[in-house]
Amino acid sequence: MSMVLNAKPRVDNPVLEILHLKKYYPITAGLLKRTVGYVKAVDDVSLTIPIGKTLGLVGESGSGKTTLAHTVMRGLEPTGGMVIFHDQERGPLDVAHADPETLRHVRRNMQMVFQDPYASLNPRMTVLDIVGEPLEVNHIARGKAVQDRVAELLELVGLRPEYMRRFPHAFSGGQRQRIGVARALALNPRLVLADEPTSALDVSIQAQTLNLLKDLQARLNLSYLFISHDLGVVEHVSDIVAVMYVGRVVEIGSTRALYQKPQHPYTEALLSSIPRPDPTRKKRRIAIAGEIPDPANPPSGCYFHPRCPYAQPVCSRETPPLREIQPGQFAACHFSEALDLKGVNDI
Ligand code: SF4
Repeated sequence: MSMVLNAKPRVDNPVLEILHLKKYYPITAGLLKRTVGYVKAVDDVSLTIPIGKTLGLVGESGSGKTTLAHTVMRGLEPTGGMVIFHDQERGPLDVAHADPETLRHVRRNMQMVFQDPYASLNPRMTVLDIVGEPLEVNHIARGKAVQDRVAELLELVGLRPEYMRRFPHAFSGGQRQRIGVARALALNPRLVLADEPTSALDVSIQAQTLNLLKDLQARLNLSYLFISHDLGVVEHVSDIVAVMYVGRVVEIGSTRALYQKPQHPYTEALLSSIPRPDPTRKKRRIAIAGEIPDPANPPSGCYFHPRCPYAQPVCSRETPPLREIQPGQFAACHFSEALDLKGVNDI
């Protein structure tokens, strides 16, 4: 009998613990703007990121991945739950309820890399200003010391320091993303939240950027929350993968286990859509019928039931809890044990 848990896999040595995090937006109606419901963009999500490891967060557009990242950073105020950052000096700090001084301290240790390297860099600032700004704003360095640190950071991400007086438009998409990474690393963070960092880049540049992130992780013992809709990309960088659907985690486990033997039909369908460069094998793509539901009006029971090829009557009545199906692998499906779901190499 598998264990029922409304929590997350046990992880030793975490840098970040997300516990029952919620981000709800009220739906109002009438002249008095009474709250008549909620859009549950992030609904009771628990995840743990170990030190020096990568947690890949995947799901279709609209599944709540980006909202989760912004809520973790307190760019959005959480509706409920906790976000525990394990600080080397101060011990565990709850980001979700931190005062402004604590929040400033935590944000120096948690940085974001954004999806669009074209939009995320100010076109009127030089690379020196962009990468050096966090050092000046946080009163860590001034003048020549900023230039020296920026030169060091540019070398770290594979750019030539003599380019620091140029503006972003002088760089390619891949180089701009490297500038974004250099800026994120300026304050020596321990955790980087990377939100679709390669999806705006050409395929050939994507691999270089992923290799850079992996190389930096090994050199600096960084931890990543790596967000992507692309399971092929996530497989290459992640130690643990969590699959989100309509604001909830529906499966989580080690990358190897989840890709070889998924325990949730949504994961199986996503895996079937990864292109594999083997012309001798014909893949059986599992088409997911319909659209991802509106989180303001989700289906009853299992949110995936209108699209699930294995749905049974109970699925529309009862919400499946996130359960440990096998050691370290959790899924929210009534029938995980009964279904013989196909892994990425079996489809
Ligand atoms: Fe499909 Fe039912 Fe499992 Fe939901 S609980 S994923 S509908 S089989």
